[in-house]
Amino acid sequence: MHVDLLEILRCPYCGGHLELVTSLFHRTSGDTITDGVLGCQCCVFPVVDGIPVLHLQPAAVKARELVEAGTPEQALLAMVGVEAGEQAAQFEAAVASPSSTYRDLVESLGPGFEGGYFLYRFSDPTFVVADAVVRAVAGAALRGGGRALDICGGSGHLTRALVPLSSPAPVLADLFYPKIWLARRFTSPGALPVCCDGNAPLPFVRGAFDYAMCSDAFMFIWMKRQFVGEMFRAVAGSPRATVLINHTHNQLVWSPSHGNALTPSGYRNLFETMPCRTFGESSLFTDVVTRGVLDLTRNEDDTVLDTEVALTLVSTCADGVFETHTVQPQSGADGEWRINPLYTVREDGATLALTLRFPSADYEDEYGACRQYLPEEVSLDAAALAALQAGGNPPALTDLIARRVLVNVPARYF
Ligand SMILES: [Zn+2]
Repeated sequence: MHVDLLEILRCPYCGGHLELVTSLFHRTSGDTITDGVLGCQCCVFPVVDGIPVLHLQPAAVKARELVEAGTPEQALLAMVGVEAGEQAAQFEAAVASPSSTYRDLVESLGPGFEGGYFLYRFSDPTFVVADAVVRAVAGAALRGGGRALDICGGSGHLTRALVPLSSPAPVLADLFYPKIWLARRFTSPGALPVCCDGNAPLPFVRGAFDYAMCSDAFMFIWMKRQFVGEMFRAVAGSPRATVLINHTHNQLVWSPSHGNALTPSGYRNLFETMPCRTFGESSLFTDVVTRGVLDLTRNEDDTVLDTEVALTLVSTCADGVFETHTVQPQSGADGEWRINPLYTVREDGATLALTLRFPSADYEDEYGACRQYLPEEVSLDAAALAALQAGGNPPALTDLIARRVLVNVPARYF
């Protein structure tokens, strides 16, 4: 982490400034802190492999002790949750190899680490809507500059959309260290990772941001009232202050991984000081998939919202948010174009014949709505694909890109 990040970090518990404790073990290079201990008036926290860990869960305490003992490599193992032994050796070998992919690292962390569906993340229906919402709302809120915070951002799949929009660089915050560690290496290398607990006050100075979002995670937060208050504190004073809660489940409608969901009016009740608009995800999905637009001018009442599986809430002082947005095509500057791994591929001369195959019945149950844009069978011109992968923009592929038959994934993703 660059020392500049200390300007916006604060202790989550006392709110005080954090400084590198130079009397304890640390490794720095110029203005970059790789490992060390940060102290405030009440507490000490480790920096592990360049990521500040600003909570006191057992792994964080152990990691801080291991940094203090001068063994930062052991502190990294403690934070990614692999014990010494074979698992640790596998992880360290994967870390050391420059050709390792996101998939290799995930596999080296063991079967308990992440559900197997990360391969398909960039085309799942939840992501397709969330990506459109984030690019539309953050795009309007951060027009002309401003900094974004993605809290509970996990492995940074959506943070990736914030990187070109946020200036200075966005912050990716999550409790789960290995996810933000992977995000920095693969998914969202332009974002600044901070490990912190969404059930505690956020470790940032008041008004450090212009835009704060939480996507597909808010129903897992217990301290919802505090969390929303903290999101508003994070953007306080910004003329563009924007808070987005994206894809949170509805207590009134069952869903897989339901979490601790509230009703639509229960969520609105959390926005005490600022008005917010609530959108049902099914209408946003239909917008994006059938019309290529995202209509944020709509006002749905609770007779509609109460029947929705998932909800999106937006509060903003910025102009240009509650409008109809054209969905931007996937962009390729930082990534690689790949055939969606939901397809099997058969070579047929100059043509590739693709067939949709779901990895499991469970996947189809949860994400089967992708059939609305992923065709059952499709053929692809191999030369056009090669041209796209070489940096070209073949018009013949525009529709397959829009449908996510072709996906732009981070470099070395799989
Ligand atoms: Zn403190």
